[in-house]
Amino acid sequence: MERDLIRKDDKTARAANMADYARTRADFTWEHARQQIDGLKDGKLNIAHEAVDRHVEAGHGAQTALRWISKSGDRTDFTYEDLQRLSSRFANVLVSTGIGRGDKVYALLGRVPELYIAALGTLRAGAVFCPLFSAFGPEPIRSRMEIGDASAIVTSGRLYRRKLKTLRDQLPNLRQVYLTDEEHSATKDLRSLMATASDTFATVALQPEDPALLHFTSGTTGTPKGVVHVHEAVVAHHVTGSLALDLKPQDVYWCTADPGWVTGTSYGIIAPLTNLVTMIVDEAEFDVARWYDTLAREAVNVWYTAPTAIRMLIKAGTEAKQRHEFPALRFMASVGEPLNPEAVLWGNETFGMPFHDNWWQTETGGIMIANFAALDVKPGSMGKPLPGIDAGIVEITHDGLRELTEPMAMGELALRPGWPSMMRGYLHEDARYKKCFRDGWYLSGDLAMRDADGYFWFVGRSKDLIKSAGHLIGPFEVESALMEHAAVAEVGVIGVPDEIAGEIVKAYIALKPGHEPTEDLRIDLMGHARKRLGPAVAPKEIIFRQNLPKTRSGKIMRRLLKARALGLPEGDISTLESDEA
Ligand code: ATP
Ligand code: MG
Repeated sequence: MERDLIRKDDKTARAANMADYARTRADFTWEHARQQIDGLKDGKLNIAHEAVDRHVEAGHGAQTALRWISKSGDRTDFTYEDLQRLSSRFANVLVSTGIGRGDKVYALLGRVPELYIAALGTLRAGAVFCPLFSAFGPEPIRSRMEIGDASAIVTSGRLYRRKLKTLRDQLPNLRQVYLTDEEHSATKDLRSLMATASDTFATVALQPEDPALLHFTSGTTGTPKGVVHVHEAVVAHHVTGSLALDLKPQDVYWCTADPGWVTGTSYGIIAPLTNLVTMIVDEAEFDVARWYDTLAREAVNVWYTAPTAIRMLIKAGTEAKQRHEFPALRFMASVGEPLNPEAVLWGNETFGMPFHDNWWQTETGGIMIANFAALDVKPGSMGKPLPGIDAGIVEITHDGLRELTEPMAMGELALRPGWPSMMRGYLHEDARYKKCFRDGWYLSGDLAMRDADGYFWFVGRSKDLIKSAGHLIGPFEVESALMEHAAVAEVGVIGVPDEIAGEIVKAYIALKPGHEPTEDLRIDLMGHARKRLGPAVAPKEIIFRQNLPKTRSGKIMRRLLKARALGLPEGDISTLESDEA
């Protein structure tokens, strides 16, 4: 696994925010981290103050905070002072229409400036912000608004007419609907309200434990859960933005995640702003040429993206990069799914630096395990725990929980609770929340291993583990081996029941352009897998598919591959992106 170690030189290490992992880790306390943010009087807090106001007060008001690229390619810049003014207006609009502290304000918007202004304005007013992914259909929208007891929603005229209008009478507690670009009966016209609202608003000073954000999980393993985060989370957003993403003031930073998912809020709004960067926000969906162009033209310094996007860039081939160079690029990171070693190495060849994989969840609110700028990268590993985070590999036995300390022992990835961005609950699912904690650990539901150097290796979701002829097989290992093959663009591996072996490994493969799903290729892939993994772990069956079923945030839905393979009910598919099964 370690054959491809990517070493960092001293110069890279010295330039990083965290030059020495071991020392920073030894010295780190969350109390110290708390001092890196400003806070309000009497121990009070508000994320909007940390993200915007304190920078304006410190004289950075004229710096661009957000550069918005519209679908048609037009660019509009918003300074920190603009964000302060506009989010204050939005807070005034909320309060003047009867929405305030503790209310839940939802957003159903594409990546448009109003989304960012609404997020900051909602927090400023002391209300709870809940972003929904704009491609959701009416039912996923309704259920999420009902679970979270939405008081208000900001959306566009088009989305309102298509998805929300017919739901109104099913949402009796929804008091306000603000439309960004149209007038409609029973809604408020946000443009005219914003035009007359005051530029100033006394930011509501909140307790650190007051709720700030409501996020729904991706629904990869089942029904999405509503996860609550508090204002204190900003301490973790800020520190992880600095240590794990290496964000520095004035950096140009591009997080490609949509704020409808936790990454797009924690690292697409809060952490970049608290770290005083210039954020790139692209309204358009993924497009190979446009992405290379954006990276180069905007002189992006730090880029945070996801394995699916990286795999699509790889699939497009190196010609797609054209003549672009990326002299400004300093750090690239990835999250959301396991990042195959092939993809890390491809990054190194294409951009002259590896993708730095990091691991976290909606529940953890921020990055927990990461490959850091100053640390050598072992491709395929998630890296090491953040300073301030204790991670372990545990096993649940009859007598309780046992930590596995021997190198490369496989068990559940667990964390010692107590960091600021940890969820404070699953909405209306107390029992499920309590089940996540045992003997002083938070149980992630993921399986992993830790090597002798302290690097963590993802194995798979515990629900996806395959038990075949006495072996425990993690789908990620099998998928990564298949990804090495030149014809493979994407793989999802599952276990299907087998009379003799208990389960057998089955792989679903999408091919790169120019490769045909022939019997010869199948045999070649089988041979490759056997050579790399041995016959016990290699797939017994390979199925070619045009596309694999994925969540809208780009995660392969192995549970759906399995349900379909076995003819079982598909379960909650509210986050499924349309696919060709
Ligand atoms: P649900 O909980 O609704 O099934 P989900 O777990 O996909 O959905 P998220 O909170 O968005 O929802 O995703 C967190 C999960 O994503 C992690 O538990 C892990 O399984 C996976 N993940 C995130 N980052 C990585 C990574 N770097 N490597 C491997 N897996 C990752
Ligand atoms: Mg999950």
